[in-house]
Order: sequence, then C-alpha cells, then structure tokens
Amino acid sequence: MNAPFKAPFKAPFKARAAAALADPVLKTAIDRTTGNAERKRAAALAAFPEFEAARARGQAIKDHVIAHLGHYLEMFERNATARGAQVHWAGDDAEARAIVTRICLAADARLVTRAKSMLGEEIGLPHALADAGIERVETDLAEHIIQLAGEAPSHIIWPAMHRTREQVAELFKTGHQPPPAAEDPATMVQSARRVLREKFLSADIGISGANFLVADTGATCTVTNEGNAELTTTPPRIHIVTAGIEKLVPSTAHALALLRLLVRSATGGEMTQYTTFHAGPKRPGDADGPEEMHIVLVDNGRTKMLADEFREMLRCIRCGACMNHCVVYRQIGGHAYGGTYPGPMGSVLTPVLDGLAASRDLPNACTMNGRCAEVCPVGIPIPTLLRAWRRRSWREGLEPGPVRAGIGLWAQLARRPRLYRLATRIGLPALRLFGKGGWISRLPLAGGWTDHRDLPRPAARSFMDQYRAQQKARK
Ligand code: SF4
Repeated sequence: MNAPFKAPFKAPFKARAAAALADPVLKTAIDRTTGNAERKRAAALAAFPEFEAARARGQAIKDHVIAHLGHYLEMFERNATARGAQVHWAGDDAEARAIVTRICLAADARLVTRAKSMLGEEIGLPHALADAGIERVETDLAEHIIQLAGEAPSHIIWPAMHRTREQVAELFKTGHQPPPAAEDPATMVQSARRVLREKFLSADIGISGANFLVADTGATCTVTNEGNAELTTTPPRIHIVTAGIEKLVPSTAHALALLRLLVRSATGGEMTQYTTFHAGPKRPGDADGPEEMHIVLVDNGRTKMLADEFREMLRCIRCGACMNHCVVYRQIGGHAYGGTYPGPMGSVLTPVLDGLAASRDLPNACTMNGRCAEVCPVGIPIPTLLRAWRRRSWREGLEPGPVRAGIGLWAQLARRPRLYRLATRIGLPALRLFGKGGWISRLPLAGGWTDHRDLPRPAARSFMDQYRAQQKARK
C-alpha cells in the first residue's frame, strides 16, 4: 500500500510550469475540476444572498482571533486538557514531526491511518512516518489515489485533481488486490472502500488535521464528505490531531459561521456530509472513541507572520477558491508551484515556509487580475501580499542581474520625464521594426515573453503625442 513518498518536484518553477503546459492530459484534468468548482460556487452564492455579510463576519472572526491569539491558545489548551486530551506545542515542522513520530513509536504503532490534512503535508509527516518504518494509509479517496501514485497533493481540496478517471483506473488495477471489476467510478470507489475498510479496523493510530480548534470547548473540528475522518479517528486506540495555530476560533458558533463560507467556497455545497467535533478521548460509558487524544499545535512561521505584512494570510480557511479561479493555476496545475500549497494562496505562503530565495518566482507568476481576492471568503488581499513579496525580493536583491538592470534603467527613466519622452521617441519606432501585421512575435532579449505569446506592435505615435495633438486641434 505504501508507495514511496515523493517530495514536491524541485526543478526551477519555470521548468515545472513549462512541463505542465506541455501536458494536454493535465490540462483536461484541471479544466474538468476547476470549471466544475467555479460553476458550483457561483450557484451556491446565487442562493446565498447574505454572502457579503457572512464574509465580513468571517473576516472579523479571523481578525479578532489573530489579534488575541495568545489568549485563545491558552484557553484552548486549558479546555482541551480538561477534557483529557494531551496538548503539544511545535515551533517548527521538524519539532512537529518529532512529536508525532515519538507518540507513534511509544505506542509501538505499526499501522497509521491518516485523514487528509494539508498541515500534515506542510510538516512532512508522510515522509517522517515512512522513515520511522510505520505503515501510513491515506484514507481520503483522492489522497489514496496519490499515495498509490507516490505523489504530493496538487490542490488543497482535490489533491488528485491532476489525475483523470482513466489514469485512476490504471492505478487501481495495480494498487488494489484484487483489482476493481470495472472502470466506472462506482466500481472503483467500491474497490477503494474495500481496501480501506480493512485498514480502518486494524490501525493502531489515526491522524487527522483540524479545520477549526474551538477555544471555549477545547474541541477540534474536522469536515469531510466521505466520512473517512470519522473512521480514521474513532476505531484506533490513539487519535493524533495536527493543526496550525491559526485554526483557532472562540466558540462553536464561530466555527459554524466560518463553515458556511468554507463549504460554499470549496465545493459549492451548503454543508459538508460530515462535520465532527472531537472533544477529548473516550470517557467512561462512551461506546467508542480513542483511549488517548493528542493535539499538536504547530507554529512553523505563523507567529512571525503575525508581526509582518503577511498577517492577513493567517485568515485563510483553506477553501481553495483562489486556485479554482486563478488563470495561472488553471494552466499549470498545483505541482508546478513546487511547495505544499499551490495557487495564489500558496504563492504567498511558500516564501514564508521555504524562504523567498527558493521561491521568488511564485509571487511573480501572477497577472494581478485580482480574481483571487474577489472570491476569497475571508477577504484576503492576495495581490497586495504578492506585491509585498515582490518588493521584498527587490530589496533583498534576489532578481537575476539582467532583470535588475532592466527595471533599474526603467526606474531611472520614469523619474526623469524628459529623458523618458526622449527614450520613447527613439524606442517605439525601433520596436515597430520588429512587428508584422500588428504583432511582434520575436524580440531580442525578450524570449521569455515572445516564446509563448505575441506583443501588440506599438502605435506609430505615443498616447501623449496623440493627446497633445488632440488638445492642440481643439484650440
Ligand atoms: S486565500 Fe482565501 S480563497 Fe484562497 S484558500 Fe485561503 S480562504 Fe480560500
């Protein structure tokens, strides 16, 4: 069952993007899923006239918690502990991995089931469990598919969205014993259910993430449409939750207010099939539940974000709407981004997690059309945050020499209007020499642009020249 975990593809972003663009099957898979998601979200919002009010409330809830994070973290720890859970604090991904592995080894766990959690991917949990010799079984259907393929998720809601149904059928043929009797979705799902049921019942530990951490009850909340989180967290004797500290909400009512936004933005539904609150381990008299519950609260750069210009990103409820509506994501898919989180939100988060030097291409891979901010259910100004990364990249001198020289020259000209006018007077006619039929399809030193798209040939006279001429004619 355990295919080797492959770290995200680490070639330079441009090479990954070029490979993705050259893959027509990938494009078909992306179009199917994101197109559907876009339509369903639009329909859900059309039937939800109070969306703007709910969005303002969601934003206010997240801002309030972020402003009082210490207070709510302490409240959560106190209440979770009172309910019998053990709370652990992890400053970074290495510490989080070490805590989870230690709990697994102390329990002599051989088999661990896992419900989908992007935080688990962020801290490299699949890799750590494999290194510790522990069998890991992903129980979300899409995660099951990518585990069979030995891949990382390409979307935060649909981790296997880059795979077509035909490709999944091939994976199940070799990954399931016996293989599914047919290739239709119902038969394949039935086959996955049979394979996973065995694992649910024999796992030593179940690991889940949390969509919300409820401070005033100490409960964690998970939402799924398959019920796999319930089967992951209930039968095993130990339940481990890994969650980022920004998942806190003051109360259950606040979690439900955010859930209305999350589900509509993610899948276009009104409510998930399963919404489960886990409040401590099994108590005397309970029919089922784990004997131990551990909650690992992970910082991994979040408190640093609190103090800088990326603070608003901590509002993110991981709905995936920004990637479904992103013109770049819809061309290249999630793996091309190279980090745990793809798309617009990933382009803000990856430099926090992996460092700007390793990911400076991501904030630049954006057309700034603003669609992501428009659809974000908690009003995160993603383009503004991407521009902040671009500014920081410039300040830190991370751009390649020719780019710095070109932008530096332009900035010098832009500050000197006379010189700028002179340069355009010389430059525009020169540029026109490269154009044919209204378009420029090749330009020296600009292959990065013209290899993939044509530039419109500049007009014979600049806007300012035309404006001045018009003004003169009016007098
Ligand atoms: S940034 Fe906004 S739209 Fe994107 S995943 Fe987060 S909450 Fe959803």
